Amino acid sequence: MGKEQIDHGRYLILDFIRRSGQVARIDIANQCNISQATVTTITAKLLKAGLIEEIARDTTEKEARRGRPRVDLKLRNAAHMVAGVKVENNSVSVILADFEGKQLCKLRQGLADTVSSANDLASEIYTAINTLCENNNYSMQDLSATGVGIAGFVDASSGVIHWSPSIEQRNIDFGAILQARLGMPVYLDNDANLAAMAEQYFWHGVDTPNFLVVTIESGVGIGIVMDGKVYRGSRGFGAEFGHTKVQLEGALCRCGQRGCLEAYISDYALVLEAKVAGLPLAGNTQEEQVQALFAAAQSQEPISLSIISKARRMLAMGLANLVNIFDPQLIVLVGSQMQEGHVYSEDMIETVKNSIVQINASAPQFVVHKSGDALWAHGAAVYALEKVAQQTLRGL
Ligand SMILES: [Zn+2]
Repeated sequence: MGKEQIDHGRYLILDFIRRSGQVARIDIANQCNISQATVTTITAKLLKAGLIEEIARDTTEKEARRGRPRVDLKLRNAAHMVAGVKVENNSVSVILADFEGKQLCKLRQGLADTVSSANDLASEIYTAINTLCENNNYSMQDLSATGVGIAGFVDASSGVIHWSPSIEQRNIDFGAILQARLGMPVYLDNDANLAAMAEQYFWHGVDTPNFLVVTIESGVGIGIVMDGKVYRGSRGFGAEFGHTKVQLEGALCRCGQRGCLEAYISDYALVLEAKVAGLPLAGNTQEEQVQALFAAAQSQEPISLSIISKARRMLAMGLANLVNIFDPQLIVLVGSQMQEGHVYSEDMIETVKNSIVQINASAPQFVVHKSGDALWAHGAAVYALEKVAQQTLRGL
């Protein structure tokens, strides 16, 4: 076996143990189609490295009488601890997770500005992680790595952010800046990719090889999982659903181009539309103003109703395009606007279903994931864990 194959075998087995929760060696061999001898060799290495541990399985009385207590393998949750960070419009959410990906504690901290310099944002992330550690009797030294999800054009492989609504500079090596500030490995990715990873590990995407996660908040994002893997495209930063065009010479988008979907349905676009139409919205933050817009629609205020109806039709067009391109089994919709009465509605989904290629097979399933906050930071933690596991396996 070549080095690559051995690495792959190790990773395959570790990942299989993770997904199984706990599993016997013989079942790993059978289900991963790897010889028992190889499974024994590799799991011995993983045990020695402290990544997994043995655990007695509850045996039946009959098995116990035969004197054959079965031993399972599981991840050793104390093997590594990581931080998962999600940079939001005006706050950062941080969680700490153990090696199994279980959330240990969390914190949400406000940001001084919506857009800041890379150095300032790195300092604010440092403070948030450090505070969370101190509050829970951990230290930064206990962490093996940090995963960070941020909106924008993020090159996950290099850590370079080409553009983000949260950072003043363009084409900045934020991965290196943050790594220097935190003093540990940092893995950056587009936030929607990490939401997709979290779905794949823990929620709706478990056992679903082809699905999409569409996120609507201050921006619009997408995570694409094809054949069980997050698709990042040839340039490394994945797809940008929010910047697909839905209108020729349309509204000006934050990215500098015109007619992007995001310029019609994201929080800032809705607030801007209301301003242009002369509808006053209460609230100081964008979030509060969007809530005021939806409250106005609840009481049948006509301008707000027309703004939301247009946003829904634009989103339905975008989602129908996605279905026609990817033919996914499932689309998970994430974000505060995915509540009934907001941009999401049953009618909007019906419009999507009527706009896709009509064949004699059912349309993909649509699911709304309500606990958005936990999802993002959790995805970032899972990404860091995956990288830490790969690094450790390579070093064995
Ligand atoms: Zn755009």
